[in-house]
Amino acid sequence: MYIYDSVQKTKRLFTPQNEGKATLYVCGPTVYDDAHLGHAKSALVFDLLTRVLKANGYAVTYARNITDIDDKIIKKAQEQNKTIQEITEFYTNAFHKEMEAIGVSRPDLEPKATESLDAMFTLIQKLIDSNHAYKTVDGDVYFDTSSDSEYLSLSKRVQEEEDKINRVQNSSHKKNSADFALWKNVKDGTLTFDSPFGAGRPGWHVECSAMIEKHFIKEHVPEQSDKCPWGTKFAVDIHGGGADLLFPHHENEAAQTRCGTNHTLANYWMHNGFVNIDGEKMSKSLGNSFFLKDALKIYDGEVLRFYLLSTHYRSNFNFNEEDLSASKKRLDKIYRLKKRLFGLAFENEKTLFTEELLKALSDDMNISNALALIDAMITHANETLDTAGKHKELKTATLSNLAYIEEILGFGVKNPFEYFQSGIDEKTKAKITELIILRDEAKKVKDFLTSDKIRDEILACGVTIMDTPQGTFWEQV
Ligand SMILES: [Zn+2]
Repeated sequence: MYIYDSVQKTKRLFTPQNEGKATLYVCGPTVYDDAHLGHAKSALVFDLLTRVLKANGYAVTYARNITDIDDKIIKKAQEQNKTIQEITEFYTNAFHKEMEAIGVSRPDLEPKATESLDAMFTLIQKLIDSNHAYKTVDGDVYFDTSSDSEYLSLSKRVQEEEDKINRVQNSSHKKNSADFALWKNVKDGTLTFDSPFGAGRPGWHVECSAMIEKHFIKEHVPEQSDKCPWGTKFAVDIHGGGADLLFPHHENEAAQTRCGTNHTLANYWMHNGFVNIDGEKMSKSLGNSFFLKDALKIYDGEVLRFYLLSTHYRSNFNFNEEDLSASKKRLDKIYRLKKRLFGLAFENEKTLFTEELLKALSDDMNISNALALIDAMITHANETLDTAGKHKELKTATLSNLAYIEEILGFGVKNPFEYFQSGIDEKTKAKITELIILRDEAKKVKDFLTSDKIRDEILACGVTIMDTPQGTFWEQV
């Protein structure tokens, strides 16, 4: 399996530290607002990565954190006159629900900042003891970037450039302008935690390093228990997140882990591209954010999954409705074939197609090649079924191919008849079901005048009907 390492800027053969086992850490959401399409894209990319790793035979341990301590959460709680916990619980639940709707599986570990404070204290203390961090007269604790000779090695930024950026926000008590807070001494009467460094709140960057140390270096994850993790060089095999996190967040995470735990944070770094809406970069500050919950009101979750995964994860994604409906037609083709073979028994088998599909996805998740293979497989299957409808071998092989697409990509997971009914409201669905029963009854007594009249009534609901040996099915036009 090959992965493009966004720090080394090259495609590398994936070799985990522990044979047959892969560890993955991805920076998760700050739960103060609804997830937007950028969050959806990142979650989908790493969901696909875990599926591809598993298909290659690796036992995967995947962690994605929940940031539930943040100034933005406090602000939202004050604005809405709610408790901080009410805000974080509400948005955490919403995040889980929306991710489920687009077929994203829950990670194996989902540590929260509020549950990881001890790990943060330990790491900060180690950094202070080893002179990589210092306490200011204000009671804040800063990471000393000048103590780390490898600082900026990840993002390859020039120090002078950084100085320019940081000058604006430079605190007079910092040793270097690039130094960042590990612990903030806050006395604003909001959310504070007692710590060995005084009451306050942790810096954002320290959260991920502390969680990684706790779950992947210190506590042996079950999959690593046969080997002492202290003997490993890297804290995790793969670290991922959105491209906007490379600097400063990932740079600072890497510095903390390097100086505080004697581990290199990750062997491979993966960053997914941005999501733009009709060409504009999606950003909360620009005010053109597109929430996933709004998209889910209009589009089926699987249609969004297919669309957001249909371009390579490293490319910037331009979200627009025309591309979305073109992409839906491609997903429809999978379902039409599924419908054609509906109800047939088969046993999963490896085929040339399943091997080729895995090969494409194992090449840094080459989705274009994967989708081209799927299109070709569908065309071939349909053409063969048109000319040789009783071709048993083709049917079982095609069903295995469809099952594999479902497993590795999460496409085609629904009942094909229900898929084509999405967009029709529940009330209309109930009406159609009732009409189909009445039509069957009329047909049974050969009252074709009535059955035709009912058929027209069904068609008026904006659907088509298909009479099959398994019964009458309907779908949206
Ligand atoms: Zn992080």
